[in-house]
Amino acid sequence: MEGSVRVRFAPSPTGFLHIGGLRTALYNYLFAKSQSGGKFILRIEDTDQSRYVEGAEQDIIDSLKWCGMEIDEGPNEGGDFGPYRQSERKEIYSEYARKLIDEGKAYYAFDTTDEIDQMRERLKKSGNPSPKYDAVTRQSMKNSLTLPQDEVEKRLEAGDEYVVRLKVPRRETIRFEDLIRGHVSFESKGLDDQVLLKSDGMPTYHLANVVDDHLMKISHVIRGEEWLSSTPKHILLYQAFGWEAPKMAHLPLIMSPSGGKLSKRKAEEEGIPVNTKEYIKQNYEPEALVNFLAYLGWSPGDDSEIHSLNELCHLFSLDRVSKGGAVFNHKKLLWYNEHYLREETDKSIAERLKPIAKKRGIELPDETYLIEAISLLKDRVSKIDELLDMGQFFFNDPEEYDEKAVKKWKGNSSGLVEQYKEKIAKLDEDEFKAATLKSQLEEVINANDVGFGKLMMPLRIAVTGQGFGPDLFASMELLGKQTVIQRIDTALKKLS
Ligand code: GLU
Repeated sequence: MEGSVRVRFAPSPTGFLHIGGLRTALYNYLFAKSQSGGKFILRIEDTDQSRYVEGAEQDIIDSLKWCGMEIDEGPNEGGDFGPYRQSERKEIYSEYARKLIDEGKAYYAFDTTDEIDQMRERLKKSGNPSPKYDAVTRQSMKNSLTLPQDEVEKRLEAGDEYVVRLKVPRRETIRFEDLIRGHVSFESKGLDDQVLLKSDGMPTYHLANVVDDHLMKISHVIRGEEWLSSTPKHILLYQAFGWEAPKMAHLPLIMSPSGGKLSKRKAEEEGIPVNTKEYIKQNYEPEALVNFLAYLGWSPGDDSEIHSLNELCHLFSLDRVSKGGAVFNHKKLLWYNEHYLREETDKSIAERLKPIAKKRGIELPDETYLIEAISLLKDRVSKIDELLDMGQFFFNDPEEYDEKAVKKWKGNSSGLVEQYKEKIAKLDEDEFKAATLKSQLEEVINANDVGFGKLMMPLRIAVTGQGFGPDLFASMELLGKQTVIQRIDTALKKLS
């Protein structure tokens, strides 16, 4: 057990799992699995009742599962260090807070919000721009360091509201080595005496996080850069407890393509889905999202780009994680998506397409036909559901014609299409093959001395209703003679 790698993903269930959170989970998972016997733990940090969102925990679990990340220990898996939900560990935190008080490293503070505000006002007036509840001010506040012992006891017995605060040293440089950022240092004089237990008896993030990382024997804390400023507070807590801190690694921010952090608002502006749930709903390939996220702040150091989750587990190392922000390139994600979609067999795509079509109320044709349609379409789409858009003409006659495409139906279009139709109408069913259909088109354009597009475009509109799509002749072969002729007739009527 000693010395083995144990990492945790420790989300707060305050909403659906953000794509940045998913990357944090992934890097933890990859790091754990890159080490022999490494364990990936899910810990739900749900001590802030006011921000709790129903269903968020399930969403986190579903998201990890969708990506193929298996949890070794967690609320549903159990494990030797449970419970894995902080709301079920309340007594543990009070016990550890009391321990610090008994050792003189933390104290009860009875000040009301008003009293704290007054202290801040007072200090501001005397020229302190950022007043704190710290080593100096604590001496003039209502706490167990300033009040007589018996009054403290009386107040506690009477059930007076209090918080527990950490005695942050007055002047100390807090240093730690971050596995990604290198040497980091903070000055303690910039810190408040941290609240460890809130007046409702619940621990703060800082206390719960440190106590659990210690008790759960976490070897490495891998989390987003936004937590870097909390780390000195955690280091002080480890020192107060006399515990060795885990190794720290803070992941680079995810940046928006237009610059700045990829906030929810920015993401929406740029059409980037924010929550993992949306990627699932929008039918992204999980392998693509995983591969893409792995490279969002890390690279294996060669120019390889395509790797399965399993391969990534072997390649990953924290020392190749970059310090600088990683730009979210949505086009690159779609590129990955295309790759993984094309790798899949047409048969399995057909299976997956069925429920998607059902949801959209699209009735799919029989399996053999569907599989052939997929094989014609799949190199042209980025996502599986786009097969239904681009391929709708395989399943239904065009109800309307794409406006932009129709503009290309010009003066001699009808005549050319008419001539072509007459030629292919003479073909037997078994002659109705892509190569023949193409050579017949060539004959028509040669006879009329016009360019290929002059007939090709109107023909495509007539048969598919669209201005672009899969190979037209192969598509016509699949649609069959009767359907094609009938569609051409309809188009001639409607568009001439
Ligand atoms: N509960 C924190 C979060 O929501 C955990 C941060 C950490 O990993 O320490 O991300």
